[in-house]
Amino acid sequence: MTERVLWLADESATVNTGKTLANALKSVPSGPGIVIFLHGTLGAGKTTLSRGLIQGLGHQGAVKSPTYTLVEPYEQLEPAIWHFDLYRLGDPEELEFMGIRDYLTPGNVCLVEWPERGAGILPGPDLDLTLTPEGDGRSLVIEPRTAVGQVLLDRMQE
Ligand code: ADP
Ligand code: MG
Repeated sequence: MTERVLWLADESATVNTGKTLANALKSVPSGPGIVIFLHGTLGAGKTTLSRGLIQGLGHQGAVKSPTYTLVEPYEQLEPAIWHFDLYRLGDPEELEFMGIRDYLTPGNVCLVEWPERGAGILPGPDLDLTLTPEGDGRSLVIEPRTAVGQVLLDRMQE
């Protein structure tokens, strides 16, 4: 599978990449459910990219960071999005109590910030996205991990 590296010069470039991914998601049957991991330090732009994706699927309101709630649902969207931020997760086992298995159902997309905190409980991703601050902007590495992830990346380039 081929990875792709993008340069995001400013915040709007990060939002637009989220929108591009939203359009790719709309064109792919979300069948067994799709998992997207967002890696990067605090302030790298994970929530900014998530906002572009969620608003790109038609969400009108704000997209708040689920830092304290751990998960924010956007069930009305097509596909439905579950936006996680596991930064404050104490133990991966807590994900079981949160009902993680109910979120990873057919047709749903799980977008996960700080997936490292859920290691061992979270399923593997279809796409790994890694944001790294460089100068005034960000680099973004997109790595497909499954055939569905590869299709998503291909559709982002069309
Ligand atoms: P994270 O969720 O990774 O902690 P946030 O998205 O909450 O990060 O915050 C990222 C910060 O960086 C915001 O202030 C946002 O405006 C800014 N930002 C996002 N993308 C870029 C970019 N490509 N270049 C410069 N600043 C960016
Ligand atoms: Mg965040």
